[in-house]
Amino acid sequence: MDILNAQLILPDEIRRGSLSIRDGRIHRVTHTAGRAKKSAGALDLRGGFLAPGFVDLHIHGALGHDMMEATTEAFRTITDFHLRGGTTSLTLTTLTAPHADILRVLAALKPLHNQSLGGSRIVGVHVEGPYISPLRVGAQNPQYVRPPSQPAEWRELLRYGKLVTQMTLAPEEKGAMALIRALRRNGSIASGGHTDANHEQLIPAMRAGLNHATHTFNQMSTITKRGPYRWAGMIEFSLAHDEILCELIADGKHVPPIIMKMLFNAKGRDGVCLITDATKGAGLKPGTEFELFGMRARSTAHTAELVDGSGLAGSTLTMMRAVQTAVQQGGQTLVDAVRMASYNPARQLGRDGEFGSITAGKRADLVWFDDQFRVRGVWLDGELRHQS
Ligand SMILES: [Zn+2]
Repeated sequence: MDILNAQLILPDEIRRGSLSIRDGRIHRVTHTAGRAKKSAGALDLRGGFLAPGFVDLHIHGALGHDMMEATTEAFRTITDFHLRGGTTSLTLTTLTAPHADILRVLAALKPLHNQSLGGSRIVGVHVEGPYISPLRVGAQNPQYVRPPSQPAEWRELLRYGKLVTQMTLAPEEKGAMALIRALRRNGSIASGGHTDANHEQLIPAMRAGLNHATHTFNQMSTITKRGPYRWAGMIEFSLAHDEILCELIADGKHVPPIIMKMLFNAKGRDGVCLITDATKGAGLKPGTEFELFGMRARSTAHTAELVDGSGLAGSTLTMMRAVQTAVQQGGQTLVDAVRMASYNPARQLGRDGEFGSITAGKRADLVWFDDQFRVRGVWLDGELRHQS
């Protein structure tokens, strides 16, 4: 089929054009001065934006469901919801939990690896915790936080191979260096997060392969003073090194606009990936209360908060809204915001040859939206899976 008269969001520019899809792949991208003539079976976007489908590396849930439920119903609800937000590939993210619960999730997702249940394609699992810092737990359950000092335990997770695309860990914890090396050997992203590390601990971690920062600025160490001297934390270390790709929860709440701008300036268009970190509060009506890891939480118009007011309770973002926020509050061009939501995370997964940009030969994973950032259509492997 053909998609006509779109403003195509290409890696470096927005250009008016059309594209044809064959066998689920982008067959040809054409640029025409005038309007392309309507042909049979073609869809005319009438100047609407067409971007590569978004790739979300950090997502827990939606519509009252968390992926830790490990049921097909939960996976389907979550991936359906996020497809409608423009996400065509995602890595479902586990929580700090008993080892057996994480293994159960991996076992449930193994047959669904690289599959779609109708919604976004499940390209992997991001294991967030339990190997994090007890000092930077955030909304994770402190009861199950522990150091990665038992290789036999985390080897059981890595036995799932390519399904484990990412792990968030605290590099300062005992055993972390061996874990980082094992992750990179497995082809997984080794991500510093929920960490209290200082730069002296992070230098060897980066040498071992640390290449990512989990929800940068949230639950992460920063500058401390030792006697007369200042030490960098994970925040400054990530901002200073091109080797580290920084996740950003781009809702304008987890990280306020001024700090978002600081991140964009420090890292440039290739150094950031937008994530939702969406929890089960995503998609619920503002004011709805829900249970999150044993705590009461409430969705608000722009995020979710713990009812006791002590903190945020994950985001309620969609990737479309993350792109909108990066543009409207973070001062990014639409081309760069889309790149951070598609190409950069695809590259970090090592799958940019397959998806992440509008390029002939790649999977026809596409999102069509209007100038109000409303999703109008989403294609997965060239199939129109959602239209509004
Ligand atoms: Zn987290």
